[in-house]
Amino acid sequence: MTKHKTKRSAQGYTWEGVAVHAYKAEGQAPFKAVTRQVLFEGEGLAAQWRYFEVAPGGYTTLERHQHVHAVMVIRGQGHCLIGEEIHPIGLFDLVWVPPLTWHQFQATADEPLGFLCLVNAERDPPQLPSENDLAELRRKPHIAKFIRV
Ligand code: MN
Repeated sequence: MTKHKTKRSAQGYTWEGVAVHAYKAEGQAPFKAVTRQVLFEGEGLAAQWRYFEVAPGGYTTLERHQHVHAVMVIRGQGHCLIGEEIHPIGLFDLVWVPPLTWHQFQATADEPLGFLCLVNAERDPPQLPSENDLAELRRKPHIAKFIRV
């Protein structure tokens, strides 16, 4: 990123010249209706700062990894699974995802859920739950009810 300032686009949660990508390649991992924009990255910054938007009724991949996420919700509301806890999340809430902790974000049915997410630039790839992991997670009824895979 060489620009010093990037304007927000006229409509919505996009920025001029910032590409809106699919969250992940289709078929790579289970998710529904999520976009990804990289706001800041590059030389001198050991992090990557992204904006994700989950469409109404959508969800991010249930995954875990060694790297952490520092999240701030800036649009809408929803719920997230962090480890064994499910939290309602809304505007300007902060969410911390520790290392190797299962996590999934879901939007409410009526509006998009948008959040900023800070990660290390160099990071390990996400792990998806194995059948054993899923069975373990599903032992807790509140988790069984929540997760989308
Ligand atoms: Mn993750």
